[in-house]
Amino acid sequence: MTGSLLVDNIGELVTNGSGEGGGGPLGLRRDAALLVEDGRVAWIGPARYAPAADRRIDADGAAVLPGFVDSHAHLVFAGDRAAEFAARMAGEPYTGGGIRTTVGATRAASDDELRATVRRLRGEALRQGTTTIEIKSGYGLTVADEARSLRIAAEFSEDTTFLGAHVVPAEYADRPDDYVGMVCGPMLAAAAPHARWIDVFCERGAFDVDHARAILACGQAVGLGVRLHANQLGPGPGVRLGVELGAASVDHCTHLSDADVDALASTAADGPSGRATTTVATLLPGAEFSTRSPYPDARRLIDAGVTVALATDCNPGSSYTSSMPFCIALAVREMRMTPAEAVWAATAGGARALRRDDVGVLRPGARADLVVLDAPSHLHLAYRPGVPLIRTVLHNGVPQ
Ligand SMILES: [Zn+2]
Repeated sequence: MTGSLLVDNIGELVTNGSGEGGGGPLGLRRDAALLVEDGRVAWIGPARYAPAADRRIDADGAAVLPGFVDSHAHLVFAGDRAAEFAARMAGEPYTGGGIRTTVGATRAASDDELRATVRRLRGEALRQGTTTIEIKSGYGLTVADEARSLRIAAEFSEDTTFLGAHVVPAEYADRPDDYVGMVCGPMLAAAAPHARWIDVFCERGAFDVDHARAILACGQAVGLGVRLHANQLGPGPGVRLGVELGAASVDHCTHLSDADVDALASTAADGPSGRATTTVATLLPGAEFSTRSPYPDARRLIDAGVTVALATDCNPGSSYTSSMPFCIALAVREMRMTPAEAVWAATAGGARALRRDDVGVLRPGARADLVVLDAPSHLHLAYRPGVPLIRTVLHNGVPQ
């Protein structure tokens, strides 16, 4: 869309950049306006100095914040696992084994069926304020099905992740080494042209640390960035493997030793040059909610200096939510984050986890991805859980 657009009468603007004195990590500004040109933020300043524009959105004193950056989502799948959820809520434990149920349904689905599901969930997330979403493969687990999953994902996201090492599929159950060889060989070759990242589910019952290291190294060798699922179901070496490999993010981080926390903190560095080497701890409270499991301790990570992101882990088994506001509310209530920390983690934190500096922040030059709340402050995202507070979403400067 061409022409300029002014978002005016912003009561509270979350920039995640330089705010007014006392603006805190959210870089808060009061009584602000924001000008959009060519899909980018062109100007931010006091409302009384707002320039003229072709069009205008009156925020009417409401809060405006960067669109949410959901850095962990599994949207390419078929079928649902509502019955498994019901069984879990009736007392059955979560083991990750239900992933194979979704693999069967995904292989049987047509491209158009998979595409329709991604489109539906992408739209659902957008309506809840998510303007950037990472999308993983991982329910195909054959060369052809992983490649098509990523091809479809790339129609909806710049941040696509090859997760051929989600679980060992049933046909390889008694020869996991052969499966790892296939993931590193023909599957990676078919997937890499459509992927920016590589990911492994490093957990008991999925892939051990040696297999995970081998697979991630193969991905790095063809230019993919590293992220991994680690320390979700129990303690283990996954987080330290992520730090060792320079992963952009280790995700879940529910069961951490002091050494894990120290390793993550050692990667944190301020300033643009430091960000390229930071390993973010991405917390996924929707998974703990939906599996009725203990939550990760965000307070411990933040107090140690670890960079924390929040994401949905949207998937049909262990966390079937696309709602970042829901995750913010959980993080504040259950993970001892302040509302400001949770909002930062769901915007700037997610951008760090994707090693991007054009989203999750509102400053001149950034992508004009923003949310106008039906509330005067970012606090309301946690203070009013479950309430549809997203009034307007701009994506690339275009009202959705
Ligand atoms: Zn996941």
